[in-house]
Amino acid sequence: MKIVVTGGLGFIGSHTVVELQNKGYEVIVIDNLSNATEDVLQGITAITGTTPLFEKLDLREKAVVQDFFKRHQDIKGVIHFAASKAVGESVGNPLLYYENNINSLVYLLQELEKKEDAHFIFSSSCTVYGQAKVMPIDENTAVQTALSPYGNTKQIGEEIISDVAKTSGINAILLRYFNPVGAHPTAEIGELPLGVPQNLVPFITQTAVGLRSELLVYGDDYPTTDGTCIRDYIHVVDLAKAHVVALERLLDKKNNEKVETFNLGTGVGSSVLEVIHAFEKVSGKKLNYSIVDRRAGDITSAFANTDKANEVLGWKTQLTLEQAMESAWKWEQKVRGITI
Ligand code: NAD
Repeated sequence: MKIVVTGGLGFIGSHTVVELQNKGYEVIVIDNLSNATEDVLQGITAITGTTPLFEKLDLREKAVVQDFFKRHQDIKGVIHFAASKAVGESVGNPLLYYENNINSLVYLLQELEKKEDAHFIFSSSCTVYGQAKVMPIDENTAVQTALSPYGNTKQIGEEIISDVAKTSGINAILLRYFNPVGAHPTAEIGELPLGVPQNLVPFITQTAVGLRSELLVYGDDYPTTDGTCIRDYIHVVDLAKAHVVALERLLDKKNNEKVETFNLGTGVGSSVLEVIHAFEKVSGKKLNYSIVDRRAGDITSAFANTDKANEVLGWKTQLTLEQAMESAWKWEQKVRGITI
């Protein structure tokens, strides 16, 4: 069964390709390599023994998307990861984000709505909830005005999909990720941020490996147990597996509504200092970090209520924060050519 994974050479996409291939799906990867390299294919092959079909194309080009679907009429599902994802960059260059994240989505849906029956999985984000009043955050929590163009593209994306599903054969699942971290335990694939990492875990591993001199912890005066911000860090392998479960729910026509939404997190909030300490424990290294003032725009706390994903989707995380830190550290060392 042929499944398209857009952004399939990226961080979450590549791990999902692995899980799909492990379950026997035939995967076609679309990626324009704007935030990935073709080497990722070798990592996927090393883990699964199979190289997915790869098409280097840019989803912002409508004619190219049309041509792709003309050439592949027998696609059973699309998992759509491809997007620009740097929140700060989106504030400085909103049109880049609206063009990439919205146009690409529209062009894909225009092709899928031509089909009698189409299955679509969308990468959304917990950013849609902003600073929720009640923790943990369930799917009925109100979506708040987005704080960045990036966050807005996820909200608009969800709305576009819901509208199109009403008038077409498209069935969709919107997956709101909390904070994906870690790497494949084989260290064949992982997160490879270009430039200065935007996320905590790659910043930690790059600091530990000597690429960055110090990690700055923004604020220890938040109303949390140790004063640092709390997030829900989910191992990327657990996250990838959820995509296969969601896809199969659509393929088996088990969905209750044309568009369903699930939070994907662990249900456990961890503070920045807890993440640092988990890293120090698994790596045996002392991390050079210092506490500085709060950073504008950071919310205090966000962690998921995972009941719906657990009960309705039938998916649960299996891996711990320590396993995530261990895999991220193994990956970082491999990327930097350090023998482990
Ligand atoms: P990533 O940047 O590693 O992967 C995205 C991939 O899409 C990259 O390989 C990039 O080259 C490709 N791509 C981008 N624009 C494209 C285009 N126009 N045509 C073809 N390919 C294109 O990002 P990721 O962390 O794997 O995130 C995947 C998805 O999950 C994104 O939609 C992101 O917004 C969403 N998400 C990520 C996080 C996170 O913390 N990583 C959290 C919530 C949601």
